[in-house]
Amino acid sequence: MSGQRSFRMSRFLRRTLLGAAAAFLASLLVAAVGQTRSPELLWGTIAGIAYSLVVPPARGTYMEQAMTAGALGFPIWGLLLPLKSSGHMRWSAEAMRSDFPALVAWVLFGVVFGMLLQALTDLAEAILGPEYLGAAIAEGVRKRIVILGGGFAGMKTAERLEKLAVSRHSATVTLVSDTNSLLFTPMLAEVAGSSLEPSHISAPLRSSLAQTECIRGRVTGVDLEQRTVSLDNMNGDAQLHLEYDYLVLALGGVANFLGNKDVERLAFSFKSLFDAIRIRNHVIEMFERADREPDSMIRRRRLTFVIAGGGFAGVELAGALNDFARGILLDYRNVQCSDVQVILVHSRERILPELTESLAVYALKCLEERGVCFRLNARVKGAAPGAIDVSDGTINSDTLIWTAGTAPNPLLNSMTLEKDKRGAVIVDRTLTLQNRPGVWALGDCAAVTDATTGQQCPPTAQFAIREAEAVAENILAVLRDKPQKAFHFKSLGSLCVIGHQTACAELAIPFTTSGLLQFSGLSAWLLWRGIYLSKLPGLERKIRVLMNWTLEMFFPRDIVQMIDLE
Ligand SMILES: Cc1cc2nc3c(=O)[nH]c(=O)nc-3n(C[C@H](O)[C@H](O)[C@H](O)COP(=O)(O)OP(=O)(O)OC[C@H]3O[C@@H](n4cnc5c(N)ncnc54)[C@H](O)[C@@H]3O)c2cc1C
Repeated sequence: MSGQRSFRMSRFLRRTLLGAAAAFLASLLVAAVGQTRSPELLWGTIAGIAYSLVVPPARGTYMEQAMTAGALGFPIWGLLLPLKSSGHMRWSAEAMRSDFPALVAWVLFGVVFGMLLQALTDLAEAILGPEYLGAAIAEGVRKRIVILGGGFAGMKTAERLEKLAVSRHSATVTLVSDTNSLLFTPMLAEVAGSSLEPSHISAPLRSSLAQTECIRGRVTGVDLEQRTVSLDNMNGDAQLHLEYDYLVLALGGVANFLGNKDVERLAFSFKSLFDAIRIRNHVIEMFERADREPDSMIRRRRLTFVIAGGGFAGVELAGALNDFARGILLDYRNVQCSDVQVILVHSRERILPELTESLAVYALKCLEERGVCFRLNARVKGAAPGAIDVSDGTINSDTLIWTAGTAPNPLLNSMTLEKDKRGAVIVDRTLTLQNRPGVWALGDCAAVTDATTGQQCPPTAQFAIREAEAVAENILAVLRDKPQKAFHFKSLGSLCVIGHQTACAELAIPFTTSGLLQFSGLSAWLLWRGIYLSKLPGLERKIRVLMNWTLEMFFPRDIVQMIDLE
């Protein structure tokens, strides 16, 4: 690190000393408040050192540290209760009440400790320099890590690298993406169905990644020999070249129309925020036209919405569009309920192959009761304006939405890399490209095999996030000349929302015979909302989405057409 001091004290020793000092000072301060008992010095110091060792330091995160350490006061207090009562603990209300002051003291201690630890960490950095991480780093080598793609895989890799403090101590991190925000795809159907505002399900990359250089640009090529990335400024001009030492390919996937040019020209894809906005606009446009259409055949054609593909994305979209279309009927006086049709075309015998059969059957029945029609064992073969050619008969419709196939980003085709038959880059157990040390690939653009089970990992956000954590840790391992870890992750389960207050849930439950807990209906829908709301990045966005959901319960869906980006 040119020009930077780095005092050669082991990271472990430095964090132990900082944790102990912060815990000691926090104990004294809490005791000085006088009204509450301070946690015992011994337990406080042990907890403080453990916290300091586990939670990586970052610069100036006072509130975050105070809140995290304060929140940990609850479990520590709970754990110490039986310890302190020498095995005769009774969980009575009386016992809890008598120990309540200790709980207050632990939480207060945590908050003060968090603040002090941050202050001491910043002070240590100012006096001693950054933590000593390894020979290469101490010798002043600053590595350039370039991440391509700002989706779940790319963004989470950068976020994890920041948490591991890699950028501050040993490397610069640059993220290149053609969008300036992370799109939270699990809620995309709700944007198409006008339940949520588009910007509420996207989180700006810059705000989430304070220590990463974010470049909005389109990657046009990667030279793996020269270790450079070429990008333009989205208009096709102003080429920029980035040099890298370590490269992360997280370019995601695109809709795959299986070579059908007519379908590609006429169908809406359903991958991006832009797609969802266009679909919503188009549905409203179809209602506007149908409302002034005297010919009942044409009116019906306008209000027939065909979705190709019965996987998660297609089924969730069918549920959301069906609710939307039937929910706005009151605004269009010349349109009858019987004019509206949502048709889902699926090539297999049953929808939702990702879920167990009973749940897929439940989803199908539920959607049918709400008016969705299914064409199973059928394929979309072609499309012309006003007519969609399906293997079991033509459907008169002005709307085709394609969710029936995806393919890894075609940019990968320009690179000489080993790929599977879908075109996904094959990586080894550590997510490194074969014969390309220093280059990792993950998410929807990579063919990842679980190192423990030997099974192919599915292209989902759930896996992309875990792969991102593994890649970030492996980059750090390489920087420190340590061995990389093999990737393993067991799916936590699947959730699929199928429209108004209904969802299907399949959760992985360890130590049970089936290993799965399945349920559906309102409870699954509440779980879906709870889980995805908690995962949506940023407190502000969580509040906005929650407000949208609450308003939706009392007011009709918004039918204002947004600016037509076309
Ligand atoms: C409608 C829908 C619903 C889904 N629901 C779920 C769900 O409920 N649960 C779940 O686990 N998964 C879900 N998924 C799947 C999940 O979204 C993907 O698996 C996940 O997004 C993969 O992450 P990624 O980072 O690999 O790819 P992406 O999220 O697609 O990110 C790729 C990034 O690369 C950028 N990019 C692409 N090309 C270029 C270029 N040339 N230059 C610069 N930048 C580029 C893109 O803009 C994007 O930011 C859903 C997907 C869809 C479409």
